Amino acid sequence: MAVDSILSSPLGPPACEKDAKALQFIEEMTRNADSVQENVLAQILRRNADTEYLNSFNLDGATDRESFKSKIPMVTYEDLRPFIQRIADGDRSPILSSHPVSEFLTSSGTSAGERKLMPTIKEELDRRQLLYSLLIPVMNLYVNGLDKGKGLYFLFIKSETKTPGGLLARPVLTSYYKSDHFKTRPHDPYNVYTSPNEAILCPDSFQSMYTQMLCGLYDRHQVLRVGAVFASGLLRAIRFLQLNWRQLADDIRTGSLNPKVTDPDILSCMTRILRPDPELADFIVSECSKEKWERIITRIWPNTKYLEVIVTGAMAQYIPTLDYYSGGLPKACTMYASSECYFGLNLNPMSKPSEVSYTIMPNMAYFEFLPHEAAPAAGAQPPQLVDLADVEVGKEYELVITTYAGLYRYHVGDILRVTGFHNAAPQFQFVRRKNVLLSIDSDKTDEAELQAAVESASRLLKGYDTSVVEYTSYADTATIPGHYVVYWELLAREPTAGPTGEVMERCCLEMEECLNSVYRQCRVADGSIGALEIRVVRNGTFEELMDYAISRGASINQYKVPRCVSFTPITELLDSRVVSTHFSPSLPHWAPDRRRC
Ligand code: AMP
Repeated sequence: MAVDSILSSPLGPPACEKDAKALQFIEEMTRNADSVQENVLAQILRRNADTEYLNSFNLDGATDRESFKSKIPMVTYEDLRPFIQRIADGDRSPILSSHPVSEFLTSSGTSAGERKLMPTIKEELDRRQLLYSLLIPVMNLYVNGLDKGKGLYFLFIKSETKTPGGLLARPVLTSYYKSDHFKTRPHDPYNVYTSPNEAILCPDSFQSMYTQMLCGLYDRHQVLRVGAVFASGLLRAIRFLQLNWRQLADDIRTGSLNPKVTDPDILSCMTRILRPDPELADFIVSECSKEKWERIITRIWPNTKYLEVIVTGAMAQYIPTLDYYSGGLPKACTMYASSECYFGLNLNPMSKPSEVSYTIMPNMAYFEFLPHEAAPAAGAQPPQLVDLADVEVGKEYELVITTYAGLYRYHVGDILRVTGFHNAAPQFQFVRRKNVLLSIDSDKTDEAELQAAVESASRLLKGYDTSVVEYTSYADTATIPGHYVVYWELLAREPTAGPTGEVMERCCLEMEECLNSVYRQCRVADGSIGALEIRVVRNGTFEELMDYAISRGASINQYKVPRCVSFTPITELLDSRVVSTHFSPSLPHWAPDRRRC
């Protein structure tokens, strides 16, 4: 219910005084986007003037845009790697930032097969918290009554390691959930979770998920929204329910806890929650034992108003499955963020996934935009970076950031399209991540990684006088968890002595061993990616693929085999030519303690 007596906002009537302040803040920041950006840059440069990095470019204490742009180069992670390595090894001198690096955030983007290490400083937590604090006030503009129930959010921490110099290295959300900002957050009636902190903070993913699901089931009538960070996470929770509903129902019937849950913090908090509820147990058994799981979310949590999951970017592939399980509930994508920096939020969170635009908040960092051209003309000048307030509607850009934590003109790797403005702040559609071929969960596999994996696996075929003549790939998300499918066309000199099924299985595993550590972590620790599959197609299939592309207008001279396919007629063509399929017989290696950067 809107409160009339409090300040109204051009975004809409705020639900309470706290919301009014948050919306006012959004208005101020977006109205003054350019001057806020100018101040942010000056502040970052002033405080870091004596860092080794800025000194090496002779900025001489300048804090204006012109000096910055003329002296500081655009960089990628590879350029920063030597600096980051020194910090990781324990050098505490002001290398990138004058404020001490408090920890490293491990990005799902990889470099040389390992997660990238992003330095961060303590105060960045406040900045992230500030962005989080804007989400509910915006949501309250579109959905009434969120204070009358709870949110069932499946949130998890992941393993953390220490660098040789003793700094923690962990994902940004693990860092946030373990912070006092999250653990001791003040009660907000609009943002009450069914999951106790003890369950979210349990490092064992089975125990954590089990407890969160159990609590969500107990609170089934109070749940008003269901979510996870990414769509893949919510589908994993549904899969978990499919596998564990009998045990969950038993626990609810008797008011006891599955003996597999042994975490002492969970045990002690669950004594307050567990109670025998045979009626609820019967209900769960009757719903979950039905053959069809269509609309299971709304059947079990009938008051759910929307799902809160990111379904933009690579996660768009999960929209049909989410619609199936939820009966097409709205899917709110609330924010756009990364380990390097939290960028912004969706001011219209109930918009359709295809229409989602994120408004970058100008106070979070200094943002620049590299005009993105699919194929720049030969000999053309490299494009100039554009400031936040100067981007043009309809154009695509690569995001380049300068952060308080010491990244200067750093290429994030995301391509964004400008869809409009809120006040003076542009709004962006997330187009795609540069160079990502395959993604199921937080993994991002590029063309070079896939190529290296195919090459390595195909060596196993040498003894059979067989080679891989062509390949392509596909992220199969029809199953939960999804998995990588790689189509191989083989050439066997002696077809009768070709590789056996067992050899092909070893090829699957070898490919997985070659993929980056995020892929292997998803596979081994999170179980969020299924076994890699090789589908051998009959000879001539890739020629047919080319014929098909040419029939649709591709140039015969420029035709290249796509290394990833998602267009249904193409996957159908490939699938109709499959002669054998093979899966990885076991898990690849993954250990949390390999810490290179
Ligand atoms: P990480 O560094 O592992 O936290 O991953 C950050 C990356 O995830 C971003 O640079 C984006 O590529 C992607 N990402 C984050 N938020 C969104 C979103 N709302 N929509 C699409 N992609 C996103």
